[in-house]
Amino acid sequence: IIRITDLTRNFKLGTEVIKVLKGISFEVQKNEYVALMGPSGSGKSTLMNILGCLDTPTGGEYILNGNAVSKLTDNELAEIRNKEIGFVFQTFNLLPRSTALENVALPLIYAGKSSTDRKEIASNMLTQVGLNDRMDHKPNELSGGQRQRVAVARAMVNSPSIILADEPTGNLDTKTSYEIMALFDEIHKKGNTIILVTHEEDIAMHAHRIIRLRDGEIESDIKNESITTFNN
Ligand code: ATP
Ligand code: MG
Repeated sequence: IIRITDLTRNFKLGTEVIKVLKGISFEVQKNEYVALMGPSGSGKSTLMNILGCLDTPTGGEYILNGNAVSKLTDNELAEIRNKEIGFVFQTFNLLPRSTALENVALPLIYAGKSSTDRKEIASNMLTQVGLNDRMDHKPNELSGGQRQRVAVARAMVNSPSIILADEPTGNLDTKTSYEIMALFDEIHKKGNTIILVTHEEDIAMHAHRIIRLRDGEIESDIKNESITTFNN
């Protein structure tokens, strides 16, 4: 479902060129569950932003669902991104003035759904993440874990095939992290492809495969032989 070949990303800082990704290649099959690890600054978020079509690589090729991303028009790209990819940010990125329901319903506007449909689909999503009694709360009226669940619900609302999550448990305590991970296990069981960035080994153990980055290169890419799951 994802194939990247010799992907590079340079950033210009004044006259200096910083090579953040130095030639990354891997494939991710449908319904794989991948943890992306590596030290701070190794290029994880940079790579995730490219995979999520939020950023363009300097070099190399990205094939998403059979499409060469660099060859797509802006409209085609927006459509694929909206349909195929759900992105969960470390910082939630929720609209502060909108309720949980409005936040989750937002991507459905771009998908062209009617207002009634949007409400129904979004409220079903929030119920699935256990927030049926928090629909009308604004982000600052929710706990960190609840906000993250709203962010996960928003990422899932268009039924994307791929979920990209950049440290979705980064700001959460252990118990809340486990709740979020149970949610990801559930999503994976439904057939979604997941790529999740984490610093924590016990979180990474939920994935079936662990890719480690170091200094913009792949250090290792191994199968997880002792998978943790909350849904056995
Ligand atoms: P962390 O675990 O701390 O989130 P990361 O692996 O996600 O780290 P990235 O955010 O991908 O790291 O950043 C990798 C490197 O690229 C860093 O050294 C950062 O300073 C640099 N970098 C990222 N974005 C830019 C940018 N827009 N301009 C210049 N340098 C950048
Ligand atoms: Mg990062």
